[in-house]
Amino acid sequence: MALKKCKECGKDVSTKALACPNCGNPIKNKTYAISCSFAVIIFLVVLWVAKEVLFAFSEVRIFGRKINLK
Ligand SMILES: [Zn+2]
Repeated sequence: MALKKCKECGKDVSTKALACPNCGNPIKNKTYAISCSFAVIIFLVVLWVAKEVLFAFSEVRIFGRKINLK
C-alpha cells in the first residue's frame, strides 16, 4: 500500500483512501480514473462495432446490389 502527500495538509495519506483522514481533503483515486477511461474506451469500441455491423446488415438487405452507404 503506497502513501502520498495530501495537497492540503501535507500529511501522508494512503493512495487507497478516498479522503485525507487528517483534513478531509478528497484524494484523487488514480485506479478509479483509469477504470473510468477504460470503460469509456470499451463503450466507444462497442459503438464502432455496432456501427460496422449495422452497415454490414444494410448492405445485405439490398437485393444483390451493393450500395456504399459510407
Ligand atoms: Zn490532508
